[in-house]
Amino acid sequence: MARVVIVGAGFAGHTAALYLRAQLGKQHEITVVNRYDYFGFVPSWVWVGIGHMAPERTTIALKPVYDRKGIALVVGRVTEVHPDERYVLVSPANRGGPLRLDYDYLLIATGPKLNFAATPGLGPETGHTVSICTLDHAVAARDSYLAQVRRLEQGERLTFVVGTGHPGATCQGAALEYISNIHKDLARRHLRHRAELIYLSNEPALGDFGVGGLHARYRGRLTSSEEFITAIYNDYGIRAEVQKGVRAVDEQRIYWEDYQGHEGETAYDFAMLIPQFTGQPIAYLGADGSDVSAKLVNAAGLVKVDATYGLDYAALREQPGAWPATYQNPSYPNIFAAGIAFAPPGPISVPHITPSGLNITAAPPRTGMISGVIGRVAALNIANLINGDRLAHHERMSEMFAVCVASMGDSLWDGEAATIIMYPVVPDHRRYPNGTGRDLFVTHMELGTSGAWMKRLVHETFMYKFKARPGWQIIPE
Ligand SMILES: Cc1cc2nc3c(=O)[nH]c(=O)nc-3n(C[C@H](O)[C@H](O)[C@H](O)COP(=O)(O)OP(=O)(O)OC[C@H]3O[C@@H](n4cnc5c(N)ncnc54)[C@H](O)[C@@H]3O)c2cc1C
Repeated sequence: MARVVIVGAGFAGHTAALYLRAQLGKQHEITVVNRYDYFGFVPSWVWVGIGHMAPERTTIALKPVYDRKGIALVVGRVTEVHPDERYVLVSPANRGGPLRLDYDYLLIATGPKLNFAATPGLGPETGHTVSICTLDHAVAARDSYLAQVRRLEQGERLTFVVGTGHPGATCQGAALEYISNIHKDLARRHLRHRAELIYLSNEPALGDFGVGGLHARYRGRLTSSEEFITAIYNDYGIRAEVQKGVRAVDEQRIYWEDYQGHEGETAYDFAMLIPQFTGQPIAYLGADGSDVSAKLVNAAGLVKVDATYGLDYAALREQPGAWPATYQNPSYPNIFAAGIAFAPPGPISVPHITPSGLNITAAPPRTGMISGVIGRVAALNIANLINGDRLAHHERMSEMFAVCVASMGDSLWDGEAATIIMYPVVPDHRRYPNGTGRDLFVTHMELGTSGAWMKRLVHETFMYKFKARPGWQIIPE
């Protein structure tokens, strides 16, 4: 009998729990520890944040799913991992004392800590900006957004700024979706002419998305994602300001430094800026109580796996095999990490250091799809080890597809979405020596109302999959 503990029930952890249960006999125990008693379908929080979707439509209660499947659920926060003695400590949500959970295999799938504190004045709790990165944040963002709508209705002119709130932030796709949905919503309310919309980002160019941008044949022509997104923003009247690392925010202004080292500021009335993502604050302790975190996590608290770390950008660009394949920790082979919790070996996007030494580099995205795929790979590898086999499942981000359907208005009649397919996520310049590092037959960008239908379909099918309804495995991550 083996005991598996999974920390986090997001795209990575919840997917892993379902696959593990499908792989392992009932004699093996699977326990999921999650901070909340629900799974949150994060992509639809873009719509919650403008009041177009009820929050409860984006969540799935975990207990009924896990009861049906024979998975134990502990609602609470893992605060300590003891890798030598193989147990975790949980601070339960019901405020009971710390709970000890012993494991044979541990999967860390905690997603990001939203590190608002790295940017003074950022964030909804102690700062001045809103966020759509948790459900509570998205609901508060909605309320703040609707308050701005009322001001516009009274004739005021307002500036909305959406983008990244830290020089090393990722998740630009979410910001792009949010500002596009704000544009469509204000246009529908006939208020768009009173609002200035600014997209403020640390990307080297529009359409970079932390993956170095992409090229695809669009209407028969090789087009860059920069041209593609620029055309959309021009059409929507959204002003784009890229190559800017946000350093601080106050009640009225966002302070940034640009690639050239110039300092500047952007005035705003409403701002949603994505914070830096780091690892969750978990203590990693040896049998004698000493700190063994160096064996498990990098300086940002993200879990080290089977990647080659320490390569500079130029070397990493030439070695797609440096990206992890099995997601196993090298020091503790019974510990795996998946989703945003694993430590990437470096950026995909071209890094930039300003003359003042500020590192403005978009971090690599680990989207919902990528997190789900990695959760499945890690789960199948854990099942291999439990069944006495070798690790048989490998999927590097340099061998992985990603499909991103970026909502630009949720209406099924006049909404749109940009559908972006890329293969592989991390360019492989040896396999695809065409200057882009990607397969130009597969990589694709498309904008249209059909994408809005697709995005709605994605919401419904994934809610079905994550409820583990019959046939859930047929729906790809
Ligand atoms: C607004 C927004 C829109 C997005 N849109 C898209 C999209 O359209 N398509 C796409 O592919 N991706 C999208 N993404 C990215 C996607 O949501 C993430 O890549 C994905 O959620 C990462 O999955 P994860 O499992 O690693 O982390 P999460 O989904 O964050 O899940 C981690 C879970 O672990 C829990 N947890 C954290 N710490 C602990 C702890 N110590 N103990 C116990 N539990 C803990 C958390 O509460 C959470 O439930 C979007 C992101 C945002 C913010």
